[in-house]
Amino acid sequence: MTIKFLDLAKQHKQIADQLSVAFVRLLEDSAFINGPHVSEFEAAFAAYVGTRNCVGVGNGTDAITIAIEALNGKAGGEVIVPANSFIASSEAVTSAGCRVVFADVSPDSYNLDIVDVVQRISPATVGILAVHLYGNPANLSELRALCDKHSLFLLEDCAQAHGASFEGRHVGAVGDVSTFSFYPGKNLGGLGDGGAIVTNDDALARKCRMIANHGRISKYDHLFEARNSRLDGLQAALLSAKLPHLDKWVGARRVIASTYDNLLQPAGVQIPPTNPRGTHAYHLYVIRYADRDRLAAWLGEKGIETGIHYPIALPALAAYRYLGEPYEHMFAVRAAAQVLSLPIGPHLEVDDARFVATEVVRFVQCNQ
Ligand SMILES: *Cc1c(COP(=O)(O)O)cnc(C)c1O
Repeated sequence: MTIKFLDLAKQHKQIADQLSVAFVRLLEDSAFINGPHVSEFEAAFAAYVGTRNCVGVGNGTDAITIAIEALNGKAGGEVIVPANSFIASSEAVTSAGCRVVFADVSPDSYNLDIVDVVQRISPATVGILAVHLYGNPANLSELRALCDKHSLFLLEDCAQAHGASFEGRHVGAVGDVSTFSFYPGKNLGGLGDGGAIVTNDDALARKCRMIANHGRISKYDHLFEARNSRLDGLQAALLSAKLPHLDKWVGARRVIASTYDNLLQPAGVQIPPTNPRGTHAYHLYVIRYADRDRLAAWLGEKGIETGIHYPIALPALAAYRYLGEPYEHMFAVRAAAQVLSLPIGPHLEVDDARFVATEVVRFVQCNQ
């Protein structure tokens, strides 16, 4: 038996007819760049998140860069970023002409540790980029209050959190601007790259749209130099076909997660923290275990695929040596040696999760 970490083919097979209809419609009107498929998806996704605007862009990394450019112009300054995330979160800050300042994450959430964030605010700070890592919503009310107090922008990187909510609202609606990725493996993924920027600020949305489309006012009239980063009509049409299934898919992730929780916690395994004021979207189910590598190898022998998110914390990457900041003391750096992502997703049955958890518990009990 093989328990796959991700199985998009299985998920797509279940909705193959709906994806085909979307594809045929796109071929018929051949609206590949901008056009009705993009605006339809943007409206549907804005309604889902609960924001006034959605701007489709080329990918989730560009979404962050464009959002920061729209908020901050070319003014530079420092943006505080969590030390545990995918490199896109910090890389995009640099691409937007700002300086990355890493803050540690908390063991209670794997998200930004507010106490450390406060210590890293300087006169040069312009904003805070909060990642809802693994799908667990960050403490948005504290972050919002902190940003308001210091006149900073709050950007939510929701790339792992489609379907997560905080205090009854979907993530993405509290930040000045929020970004999503539709990379195929995300909770809502296209059949290729894609991303979106959401905001309640109409002027900011217009600016993002112009930055993503050559600073364009009309076909050959441009207000400023910018870039080309648009959501394809093809991806938009496919995403529109998938969006109605998102809540059901996230629900299936939660069922797998609670099966794991119920079996792993009594055995003393460090299960994923969840924000008590929100609901986790379980893009990833990440446990912490001291002898992680041997556990992963054991599971591999049983046919269970696992992942590591992430094996090296961002400040410890060679890419950030230039910052010259000490990072060895960070929880994010220590946790990187212990985190292990178990398979999760709508492709799994509860029995699959029971099998995985049973093998984890067996290993842990034999190695106490
Ligand atoms: C996937 C991801 C991104 C980047 O998305 P792309 O669409 O791959 O560019 C950004 N931030 C986080 C936290 C991600 O997981």
